[in-house]
Amino acid sequence: MSDFTMTIDGNSIAGEHSFGVINPASGAVFAQAPECSRAQLDAAMDAAARAFRSWKQDVGARRAALVACADAIKERIGELAPILTQEQGKPLARATEELIGAAVWLQYTASLAIPLEVVQDDAKVRIEVRRRPYGVVGAITPWNFPVLLGVWKIAPALLAGNTLVLKPSPYTPLSTLKLGEILRDALPAGVLNVVSGNDQLGAWITAHPAVRKVSFTGSVATGKKVAAACAPDLKRMTLELGGNDAAIVLDDVDPQQVAEKLFWGAFANTGQICGAIKRLYVPERLEQPIVAALAAIAKGVKVGDGMQSDTQLGPLNNKMQFDRVNELVADAKKAGGRCVTGGAPRPGAGYFIPPTLVTGLAEGSRLVDEEQFGPALPIVTYRDVADAVARANGTMYGLSGSVWSSNLARATEVAGQLECGTAWVNQHLAIVPNAPFGGAKWSGIGVENGPWGLLGFTELQTVNIAKDPA
Ligand code: NAD
Repeated sequence: MSDFTMTIDGNSIAGEHSFGVINPASGAVFAQAPECSRAQLDAAMDAAARAFRSWKQDVGARRAALVACADAIKERIGELAPILTQEQGKPLARATEELIGAAVWLQYTASLAIPLEVVQDDAKVRIEVRRRPYGVVGAITPWNFPVLLGVWKIAPALLAGNTLVLKPSPYTPLSTLKLGEILRDALPAGVLNVVSGNDQLGAWITAHPAVRKVSFTGSVATGKKVAAACAPDLKRMTLELGGNDAAIVLDDVDPQQVAEKLFWGAFANTGQICGAIKRLYVPERLEQPIVAALAAIAKGVKVGDGMQSDTQLGPLNNKMQFDRVNELVADAKKAGGRCVTGGAPRPGAGYFIPPTLVTGLAEGSRLVDEEQFGPALPIVTYRDVADAVARANGTMYGLSGSVWSSNLARATEVAGQLECGTAWVNQHLAIVPNAPFGGAKWSGIGVENGPWGLLGFTELQTVNIAKDPA
């Protein structure tokens, strides 16, 4: 019997079967989640399709409902945060921040306008360009920020007038199931359905005939499967996929000044952020002082169970990711890389890897070329900026990137040359509700956040009115 229930048609629904959820700090199962059956998914889709008929009618009611959702989350943060920490691994303070972020995103999105543009209005015709919701949205999320990334879909999809069936990752289903429970009173039945299960459930959602739009966040490999699954039915989709973000440090920085921000740009959430710094390009001349400054921070960081109040970095979320990062670090060593800090998992229970800084690598080694999605950062040297930009762009990833300099104009000019969805200057991971976030190339299709993310949950309708019936 699972400890958490799904939300289907406003009701609390148990699974016929359940699956164990592991606490990555111990490696042991600590709770059970319901396994959604095919019939239960069909019931969720039916409920969403029925709820759509009235939900799409009244934007004012939808706006008010989103504000009520934000309030409901704020009231229950004390209950949600430990669930998030135990299933995801992040420190409790960071889990709390994720939940506050979820409330902020809901509040902000509630204030957005759904545009109605009049492109012509004269004696003969009036032409309006309207935005219509799609209907049922299938939403699928990964395990690094389950609640926030779920809300990035819930808020704009619902404001636009769609209804939703949301499936979290099997590694972190509990906080999203709890979110569904918390939002039951704030939303009409069927508007938000939360189901949990393994990858097969995701595949059922993307192939389900009731779904008109898929909003997916996850890896490039799965994103391509989602795109293929959407194609036969011409479902619309937004894909937020992986990245291999480069940060390029220019030769005029003070290493001491930038080290702290660079470190957390790479290692926040134990490196498990789509847009984290995954390759650090430094001028040869500055390699030694930058590495020394980063190493000093790495050595002082407290790695541990997120439930302990002094923990700054938690474990990797799951065994597969833990094994993958260890494999990439082992490969880096074989390729001639030197681990200045870390370099080996912490002995004992749990999926802990201390922050690992690796020098002596270049393109062609796996740690530089692949998305590590974990706490191992290659620091790569360059001689001229044009070369660094070319190497940063020499990948099929294109999520984000950053340029660091004491000369803002120069850094901004270089940032503009990066082939990615978001280019930061003197910062990294500054992700905000009011600007679009999405990937170039294999890092995604479409964007989330801001008015642009909202419009991704709508389709255009031209209404062309002849004023003279004759
Ligand atoms: P994943 O692709 O393995 O899984 C993501 C979700 O897809 C899970 O809910 C999973 O159950 C589901 N899924 C798996 N197979 C499916 C299928 N065939 N059809 C439909 N759904 C399926 O990704 P993950 O390991 O959970 O997350 C890590 C990845 O997500 C990283 O690559 C990271 O960069 C990326 N990510 C991207 C963003 C962004 O906004 N661009 C944000 C966070 C994470």
